[in-house]
Amino acid sequence: MNKPLPAQRIDGKSFAAGLVEQLAQEVKDITSHTGLTPGLAVVLVGEDPASGVYVSAKHRQTQACAMHSFVHRLPADTPPAELMALLARLNADAQVNGILVQLPLPAHLDTHAVINAIDPDKDVDGFHILNAGRLATGQEALVPCTPLGCLLLLKDRLGTLAGLNAVVVGKSNIVGKPMAQLLMGEHCTVTVAHSRTRDVAALCRSADILIVAVGRPELIKGDWIKPGAVVIDVGINRVERDGRSRIVGDVAFDEAGHAQAITPVPGGVGPMTIACLLANTITAFKRQHPPVTLQAIAAAQGE
Ligand code: NAP
Repeated sequence: MNKPLPAQRIDGKSFAAGLVEQLAQEVKDITSHTGLTPGLAVVLVGEDPASGVYVSAKHRQTQACAMHSFVHRLPADTPPAELMALLARLNADAQVNGILVQLPLPAHLDTHAVINAIDPDKDVDGFHILNAGRLATGQEALVPCTPLGCLLLLKDRLGTLAGLNAVVVGKSNIVGKPMAQLLMGEHCTVTVAHSRTRDVAALCRSADILIVAVGRPELIKGDWIKPGAVVIDVGINRVERDGRSRIVGDVAFDEAGHAQAITPVPGGVGPMTIACLLANTITAFKRQHPPVTLQAIAAAQGE
């Protein structure tokens, strides 16, 4: 019997680089036709080192895409009213098309209240309750960046997803739940597993598409994966191995050779998240400036 071919790596890094290149061209076209440039505002409260790294990466990539990047760094003890006042100013600022508040917030701030204070049409993280509701009811929404990135990788690999069995492990508001909604939107049969699920392994074995967003290093073993499945590993876990610090995913990558394809960690889903944030900012800009408005602006500039 022929040995099955090893699983293909889904190269999120190069897919994201291609997407960013397309987005940069789109920004160039928008700016040359209208004189307007899409803008993203990122708000960081406190000095969490990981959040600081993410915010700097978002700033760099937004600028690399020739968009305006506005970073607001506030002290950890910022009073709620001060943060709300900043969000109100950003909501009203026509140069700002997308707003993102970096999570997690310090404990004295109410995350839901803060997110819901963002104008939903500028909510490029897609976490506002209106965007979550729009996604759940199949309406045009700004969609959370990480699940959107996973969906782009899946569609690139599989084309249509209709009728496939998808299992999502993890039910967080930022990954698992919106991922399940997106897959239902693609007509998959979706099962969501979580920490109280009785037999996660058996569910995983039924999956044509397996998406894992848990935050437990190599939780998913090779014999949990159906031969020929496409596996998307969202997890990012730092572990000590052989005296070295390494990043691994939630899936035991080396045991997944019988999958059709799998995202590596790092280099899989991670780079897609920022690329989708930039895509969402351009989407928000376009919804704030429908074609007829853009044409009018371009015409006025041509006079
Ligand atoms: P989270 O909010 O902590 O949610 C984890 C989910 O996993 C919960 O729904 C939890 O179930 C479930 N879970 C925990 N233990 C489990 C187990 N043994 N079996 C099955 N399910 C279990 O995490 P998150 O924010 O979604 O992030 C998940 C992972 O993705 C983390 O490693 C994070 O760093 C990574 N991440 C990566 C990106 C990226 O850009 N690549 C973006 C976001 C997150 P309960 O709900 O029952 O507690």
